[in-house]
Amino acid sequence: MNPADSHNPSRPAIPQPIRSDGAGNVDLGPRDVMRDRENPDMFVPPLTDNGLIPNLKFSFSDAHMQLNHGGWSREVTVRELPVATTLAGVNMSLTPGGVRELHWHQQAEWSYMLLGSARITAVDQNGRNFIADVGPGDLWYFPPGIPHSIQGLAEGCEFLLVFDDGSFSDLNTLSISDWFAHTPPEVLSANFGVPEAAFRSIPKEQVYIYQDQVPGPIQSQKIESPYGEIPLSFKHQLLAQPPLRTPGGSVRIVDSSNFPISRNIAAALVEIEPGAMRELHWHPNNDEWQYYLSGQGRMTVFGGNGDARTFNVRAGDVGYVPFAQGHYIQNTGTDTLWFLEMFRSDRFADVSLNQWMALTPRELVSSNLHVGPELMDALRKVKWPVVKYPDQSQGQTKKYKE
Ligand code: MN
Ligand code: MN
Repeated sequence: MNPADSHNPSRPAIPQPIRSDGAGNVDLGPRDVMRDRENPDMFVPPLTDNGLIPNLKFSFSDAHMQLNHGGWSREVTVRELPVATTLAGVNMSLTPGGVRELHWHQQAEWSYMLLGSARITAVDQNGRNFIADVGPGDLWYFPPGIPHSIQGLAEGCEFLLVFDDGSFSDLNTLSISDWFAHTPPEVLSANFGVPEAAFRSIPKEQVYIYQDQVPGPIQSQKIESPYGEIPLSFKHQLLAQPPLRTPGGSVRIVDSSNFPISRNIAAALVEIEPGAMRELHWHPNNDEWQYYLSGQGRMTVFGGNGDARTFNVRAGDVGYVPFAQGHYIQNTGTDTLWFLEMFRSDRFADVSLNQWMALTPRELVSSNLHVGPELMDALRKVKWPVVKYPDQSQGQTKKYKE
């Protein structure tokens, strides 16, 4: 280490695990400075952190990458992040024409399109079908057990898949190729009423993802079902939905109230401007599984009994908050922070600390917290999921500039 580095304004200082009050010591031993820079609140935790909160973050960049001709996938499940038992996530990309093969699974599948576009297909138990194209900001939901496929269109695509079981793996689903490969040929012949020779070239194992031609326009692939189309759409345009806007950001909520088929998974797409914050809150229904789409921030999770732990989060990370534990997410960067809050639930629900206090007898709150009119007069009866105050947020962004 060159001690002059810390005095050279063109180079960022090497961070040291020393708090502003002098606690800590320089780290001259083996270390990963890049990671220490990415995690300033883990490296030098706020004085308010305390106790034994488990790890609540895992980056997709630390997950195994499954490479195929036609695309890639990587997943963050309970094997990567043991606390995350309610939901599992898969980040997948498909080339133009790349296919995630025909398959099904026991878990519900919820997906958000990040980039590009894809064609999705499904058929339900009553023989009603569904074929649709999805683009950036759209999502889809396949109920448990419903067979489906995904294919990249002209520009390819990347999306996030979320499943309502933390121990799910996308590499362990029920695939059409796998079933064919493990069914006696004479049974296939008897099932379809064609000679065994018809199955001469079937794949010998699960295909998972493969390269195909870019499909033609959706009209050219339409298949008429005598039973019609599925009654509740499997597709929803989340980003096109009018958001709830507050100073500092916006929120779009999607659950079974506005996307009726999505009975097992609820979500909120949250936008937090630089200097703004997803307010102090918790969820009265289930654990929260997060996916960060852009920007960087920090989150402290409060677990009761004096336990609190702060994590730094950035694009590509999965975050997690156990059921009912208090938290905030503060934008610590110069770009807008976008993230998804996801729940294994039929509805989105959150409790605002601010709103709770505003709707509780004033004397009670005041005597409980030893606070006066300065705070009491500022409380808000209307919920603001994202907050930004002109006088307050300046100091915070400054603190994080290197
Ligand atoms: Mn699937
Ligand atoms: Mn939350």
